[in-house]
Amino acid sequence: MSKATLDPVNWSEFRSAAHKMLDAALDKMESAGEGRVWTPLPDGMKAALQSDLPITGISAEELCRKLEDLLPYGVGNTHPRFFGWVHGAGNPGGILAEITGAAMNANLGGRDHGAIYVEKQVLEWCRQMMGFPEDSSGLIVSGTSMATIIALKAARDQRLGFECRKKGVGRFVLVGYASAQAHSCLGRAFDLLGIGSDSLRKIPCDANFRMDLGALKKAIEKDRAQGKTPFVVIGTAGSVNVGAIDDLETLSDIAALENLWLHVDGAFGATAILSSEIRDRLAGIERADSLAFDFHKWLHVNYDAGCVLVRSGEVHLKTFSGRPEYLLEAGQGLAAGNPWPVDYGPELSRGFRALKIWTHFLEHGTDKLAQAIEENCLQASYLKKKIQDSSTLELLAPVTLNIVCFRHDSENGKNVDELNKEIVITLQEKGIAAPSTTILNGKLAIRVNITNHRTELRDLDLLVEEVEKIGSTLISNKSCKVG
Ligand SMILES: *Cc1c(COP(=O)(O)O)cnc(C)c1O
Repeated sequence: MSKATLDPVNWSEFRSAAHKMLDAALDKMESAGEGRVWTPLPDGMKAALQSDLPITGISAEELCRKLEDLLPYGVGNTHPRFFGWVHGAGNPGGILAEITGAAMNANLGGRDHGAIYVEKQVLEWCRQMMGFPEDSSGLIVSGTSMATIIALKAARDQRLGFECRKKGVGRFVLVGYASAQAHSCLGRAFDLLGIGSDSLRKIPCDANFRMDLGALKKAIEKDRAQGKTPFVVIGTAGSVNVGAIDDLETLSDIAALENLWLHVDGAFGATAILSSEIRDRLAGIERADSLAFDFHKWLHVNYDAGCVLVRSGEVHLKTFSGRPEYLLEAGQGLAAGNPWPVDYGPELSRGFRALKIWTHFLEHGTDKLAQAIEENCLQASYLKKKIQDSSTLELLAPVTLNIVCFRHDSENGKNVDELNKEIVITLQEKGIAAPSTTILNGKLAIRVNITNHRTELRDLDLLVEEVEKIGSTLISNKSCKVG
């Protein structure tokens, strides 16, 4: 038996399989606008994905065939009519960065090597983009969920004096505040940090789905009166339901006055700061103590890629630093370069996510990224107008950014929720478009989120046409059944 190398036995065979694979990947991206939006994985392929652990390997050619077979079965977010949740549309440039990253096989936990400098550059760009001070720090992470955990740990540890890293939160009953429209990742972070998700107070919103700041002040007062320890207030820059942006300027005033850490969840909305038209509405974001946002949403870096920025690099470092003897820095040589990324987050081994972000900014530049964001907002306004002009559709929330929530409003008013849920499922199953649903003021809404650089106005025309058509078909089918 030959030696157990994992390198190809026949490099030229491997090379030609790889070139074919690259072409298939590029074909997929080049034809992103064609065909169905979502195609469920066929039963045969689901069954094939329940095989036993492979004992012997297959050829590169067979392997590439399996990979190619998988290509059509994504959630559909590379398609111009994917409007569900908040997904970025991806871009072909990511393929180049991922190939390079895989070839380097870099581990960005620390040490002194090229990849580390790329991540530092990306973080410096983010700092400039968001208007954070020079002594702030950051980390590239999987997404806003992870960024939030890191940011809130810094907030917690700073409040409790870092002793809690060893002793736990002890007798303190920490509490924090976010709007009732804030994302579920906040409660999850409270849970993970031992604070408990009930300690995240959900402050009611005004008619525009922004946090009611009067209610916030009362909640803080009440908690203080009960001996609790308020430590953080969280602003949302682009809420997941409707795209609302909290009044970040006033929130930072309140945070300063109350001596609270201000965290901003800017998962998709914060990146709109690149647009000179939208920027003003994010004013105050640069005053945050920490900020979490994603590259994989409105900037379309291929999944996954997010960022946490912390205003005080010192606090950030004190929150995660402390390395054992086998990870000490050496002043020079490969183990140089303190501090390491591991000193800013919970992960030691880390992949080279920064690479695809770096190439993304280099390839496209911020002007084009901003333009794509602005176009999405114009498209949302266009869709809003179409809904207002329609006799069968009703708008359910103000459209301020890139999200439009509406519903088909049947005459009898009964089962409207059910009807709209069915419309969305039909759109998805027919492969026409992929909006999602949410509930606003107790009403089920068809939710169209446009974080998509491939969407065009005609895609929205088709969506409205199909919602009206499917809606009336469902209504007449039902009245037939009842009659
Ligand atoms: C998507 C989203 C999150 C979670 O971000 P992930 O990158 O999915 O972890 C948090 N907050 C808001 C407002 C979001 O839209």
